[in-house]
Amino acid sequence: MIKENVRKILNELPEHVELVAAAKEKKPEDILEAIDAGVKIIGENYVGEAKNAYKVVGNKALWHFIGIPHKQKHDFLRKKTLEMFDMVETIDSWEIAESVDQKCREIGKVMPILIEINSGREPQKSGVLPEAAEALIRKISRLQNVKIMGLMTMGPRFGNPEESRPYFRETKKIFEQIKKIDLPDVEMKYLSMGMTNTYHVALSEGANMVRIGTKIFGEKAKC
Ligand SMILES: *Cc1c(COP(=O)(O)O)cnc(C)c1O
Repeated sequence: MIKENVRKILNELPEHVELVAAAKEKKPEDILEAIDAGVKIIGENYVGEAKNAYKVVGNKALWHFIGIPHKQKHDFLRKKTLEMFDMVETIDSWEIAESVDQKCREIGKVMPILIEINSGREPQKSGVLPEAAEALIRKISRLQNVKIMGLMTMGPRFGNPEESRPYFRETKKIFEQIKKIDLPDVEMKYLSMGMTNTYHVALSEGANMVRIGTKIFGEKAKC
């Protein structure tokens, strides 16, 4: 089933769009099956789960961190963790960027990062507010061991995916603005938005990276 799901999704995604398989609470065997069907990037929310999966899957895929870093700082900011991840999609503050930068300097790595935008301006959600994004990006761009490669957003959750459109549109607008000011050491390459229910809308608003979990792995296939 996982294989069919992946093939279906890969068939409908335009060629320039990257698929991130969001694998929270999924078994390493399921992740391997998705990789067999063509998944190249695994998204992980929790460091512990990521490490367990990595033991089995290793470098058969790239690993993106899509969780909340400051909630698991102790585990997230370890050298081993940062060595494992190929990208952190959820950087939303100077503090976390600076900590990642510092650790990455120690391991001689430049970590590709995305800046997470709180496009719904929801107080309980992660992400930098749209109006604060440019200043944060300017500041983080001076760090040597993290490299800004684009933006990520979740957006508020709705039953009707059409309601997500304005939030994706606003994030794309910030993406274009940052691209236009052409900051040194900032590459606006990836725009990560859209999940199972919303990726069609996100694609039509310019996403070139989608994070899909349920539509690949099913509803509740817990370990
Ligand atoms: C779980 C998750 C996804 C995938 O959500 P689905 O609705 O299962 O496709 C995408 N991004 C993040 C950050 C997630 O935590």
